[in-house]
Amino acid sequence: MAQNEKPTALIMIFGATGDLAKRKLFPSLYRLFEKDRLGDFAVIGVARRSLTNDEFQTSVNQSVNPEGVENDKLKEFVSKFYYHSHDVTDSDSYASLNTVAHELDNQYNLSGNRIFYLAMAPEFFGTIAEHLKTDGLTDAHGFKRLVIEKPFGHDLESAKKLNNQIRTAFTEDEIYRIDHYLGKEMVQNIEVIRFANSIFEPLWNNRFISNIQVTSSETLGVEERGRYYEKSGALRDMVQNHMLQMVSLLAMEPPISLTTDEIRSEKVRVFRALRPIKGNEVNEYFVRGQYGKGLLEEKKVPAYNEEDMVDPESNTETFVAGKLMIDNFRWAGVPFYIRTGKRMEAKTTKIVVEFKDMPMDLYNRQEGSVRPNLLVIHIQPEEGITLYLNAKKAGQFMNSTPVKLSYANKGIDGLNTPEAYEKLLYDCLRGDATNFTHWDEVALSWSFVDNISAVWEKEKEQNFPNYEAGSMGPKAADALLDKDGHFWWPVTNLDVEKC
Ligand code: NAP
Repeated sequence: MAQNEKPTALIMIFGATGDLAKRKLFPSLYRLFEKDRLGDFAVIGVARRSLTNDEFQTSVNQSVNPEGVENDKLKEFVSKFYYHSHDVTDSDSYASLNTVAHELDNQYNLSGNRIFYLAMAPEFFGTIAEHLKTDGLTDAHGFKRLVIEKPFGHDLESAKKLNNQIRTAFTEDEIYRIDHYLGKEMVQNIEVIRFANSIFEPLWNNRFISNIQVTSSETLGVEERGRYYEKSGALRDMVQNHMLQMVSLLAMEPPISLTTDEIRSEKVRVFRALRPIKGNEVNEYFVRGQYGKGLLEEKKVPAYNEEDMVDPESNTETFVAGKLMIDNFRWAGVPFYIRTGKRMEAKTTKIVVEFKDMPMDLYNRQEGSVRPNLLVIHIQPEEGITLYLNAKKAGQFMNSTPVKLSYANKGIDGLNTPEAYEKLLYDCLRGDATNFTHWDEVALSWSFVDNISAVWEKEKEQNFPNYEAGSMGPKAADALLDKDGHFWWPVTNLDVEKC
């Protein structure tokens, strides 16, 4: 589909009074509208509470325009929003939703194109998809697409069950499983950095790369999501989806073209090559942590097991570090280290590619001046790339010093890059599923993660909490790399750190 296409569709948002709709979906749609990226469209918001169209439009207005500035463009935008009060478990109300959908389809000339966005708790996903089919909402004459939020299942078995349910109503091509990391500018940039630069691709393998480190850390704790998080933990919440997706983009082979099928099939091959870690190996390759109390920005914060809706004896991990091995020709022997956690020292997502050392050290390592070349991909909050090289230290003697070449997205373009949701919504409207996860990726990543959770659920971790809020996780996460002769490159102050 052309890059400047202006798609037309009726967008139904299930869970339209919720947090995701207000914080992400309405503002993203508005930015697309402001940029004139949308053709004819209308939105039906669905949730249980009773609201008039006017009240709903006011809430859309507030989420898009919190300062309350009057603006004709905004008025036109919110006028396209309609509300339908409906309990998704109630079979009777789908027929009236379909009637409204047909009316709006005619009124706005939407060509029978329908997007069903499920911004609701996952237990409803299957039921809604089935009703959309049995009650005729998927029978319109245009395209139909289902957008589904994470989590996609709780393990492989529940994910399969959910997938079978939604596949009764939608084909795989019509299902857009959101992993919002795939909408992030710098995550999308991984493949461009790799495949558009002849200085990187020839080195991107086990002959030249020592190890790759992917860190995604948050300073926030579990906040009000204790009930959900107790059943999820960092492994399911972050590793099964975002972390493994980033690894697949770092490790995949060059696709033969940029089509959805080609890119996804290369990613799937990475998941297939991921060495399963089972039984006794789990605690050798993976470390779990749970935050204790501590200080963040000079404020005292409670331990995880003191948070609302959290069991004081909780066995849930808020931190995971792991060593992944990809058993193929390109990556044999290269560890991919991942770590993610809550209440850590910094909010950041970063990838560090550490290249192998030179075969001999000519330039005074003793003085701490030479270090391996590093390529750092800054995913968030900064967006950019830094390449660390070694160059001659100015002066009389032949000493080297690390120097860096940096590229910062914001500095160059002078604009904020679009939010992930804005890009993903536009992709979905245009029918481009490349940056959504295919079922095969979901299934393979659950199989990988299920082996780890099976061990962790059976064996209660006696040392929880085992890291202080405001730190970079438990000591065992450092030991994980130490035993391979590596260490975590710091996520802040990399410049001053010496090898
Ligand atoms: P939320 O704030 O709890 O909103 C849930 C929505 O569902 C509300 O609009 C609620 O409205 C509606 N609802 C609940 N039960 C219903 C029923 N039986 N029939 C019809 N509507 C019903 O949840 P959220 O934070 O927006 O999250 C939604 C989904 O996005 C979840 O899958 C979550 O995991 C995912 N997600 C959220 C975020 C985020 O930043 N919030 C980020 C990533 C993923 P009523 O009470 O009026 O029915």
